[in-house]
Amino acid sequence: MTKTLIKDVTIVNEGEIRAGDVLISGERIERIEGCITGARENVKVVNGEGLYLIPGMIDDQVHFREPGLTHKGSIWSESRAAVAGGITSFMDMPNTSPNTTTIDLLDAKYELAKHSSLANYSFFMGINKDNLEEALRIDNTMVCGLSDDGLYFDNNEGILANYPGFLEQLFSRTNSLVALHCEDDNIIKAEYNFNSHLYKGDIPVMAHPLIRTEEACVTATKRVIELARKFNARLHVLHVSTQAETDLFKSGVNIRDKRITAEACVHHLWFSDEDYLILGDKIKWNPAIKTKKDRAGLLEALRNNRLDIIATDHAPHLLSEKRGNYDECKSGGPLVQHALPVLFELYHQHKISLEEIVQKTSHNVAEIYRIKERGYLREGYFADLVLVDINKTWIAGEQTILYKCGWSPFTDYPFRSKVIGTFVNGTCVYDNGGFKNPTTGKRLMFDKER
Ligand SMILES: [Zn+2]
Repeated sequence: MTKTLIKDVTIVNEGEIRAGDVLISGERIERIEGCITGARENVKVVNGEGLYLIPGMIDDQVHFREPGLTHKGSIWSESRAAVAGGITSFMDMPNTSPNTTTIDLLDAKYELAKHSSLANYSFFMGINKDNLEEALRIDNTMVCGLSDDGLYFDNNEGILANYPGFLEQLFSRTNSLVALHCEDDNIIKAEYNFNSHLYKGDIPVMAHPLIRTEEACVTATKRVIELARKFNARLHVLHVSTQAETDLFKSGVNIRDKRITAEACVHHLWFSDEDYLILGDKIKWNPAIKTKKDRAGLLEALRNNRLDIIATDHAPHLLSEKRGNYDECKSGGPLVQHALPVLFELYHQHKISLEEIVQKTSHNVAEIYRIKERGYLREGYFADLVLVDINKTWIAGEQTILYKCGWSPFTDYPFRSKVIGTFVNGTCVYDNGGFKNPTTGKRLMFDKER
């Protein structure tokens, strides 16, 4: 069996930072110790001096666009960008084409990933008005959960969070994790009409957070939380974007005991509404980028554990789809390659610690989804690891971008930290700009009880 020994590296894991060695044997971590000595035949030694070793990020919200939308991205292209960014596992949303709303379509996605993913994977089962019985059939040990993200509830209308009657049925009958996009349709509609009138039909992108408002987010999030509480359902609120919503979540509860969990996304932690001036349509997301106060509030809520995890909501579109008037410009953007580098920027700005980054991008994701044997640097666990040079400046130049869509809102940004190498299931898939062993990803497995 091939073995890899990472020597003299600084390990960030489970709230501690310490120097040590890590021995990988096959797909798993065999030993973690201060100093590992002994026979070196058949052992590849990696000098970790000056580098940090972290468990790979587990991103619970990506849109890799396959099947059906592969002009924007594919499981292969985006998982490749992900591992280059230090993401070793991902969970993909159901708004591919066709929407993932049957067990057969869900199985077909797993089959695609088996032959093309560099990172470990899971796929959400989609929910809409017509497929409740089918959605209830998923196997919780094999599938990460149910989600409406990116789907319409009824043909081309509505977000699920606006249908309390249906949510009651769903929450009362499922024991799966339900991950929801929470914004209120009626508030958005009213603000859209107001702004459309105000700007005579030509709404500027800066008005996006005035249409998809704080009130729209808070109203829907509150409604969904109340319903989930009523049935003690396992709810996960995706991409919380306002400070006001963070007060709706509890701190001081053990992560394993939370029935309601929540996440922040990288773009909401980095950008504010002032950035629309320069980046314009490129930072049009749903929910919208809001104020500096919201951004600070999200970071604070991560530190005090009201928010549990950090995700990307990686949602690539071609640049040509990010242009045009307010209605034509699609919401979403590519992030997986730059998410950890952005979080390390926040570390350099003293806004988050390395231990917190690891907790929110890996440990807690493994805990809330009950992922088996991943999310920590532990002996016996799968070796999903990332080597980081925390003090290596690099420019995110256009030629470095790996997304199939070919652009990033971070183009030309001088990052201060760099992902040097990424191991997935013990195999070094990304090594300082180069890729090896293209399809090492495995299906994520889960404990039954969530
Ligand atoms: Zn969403």
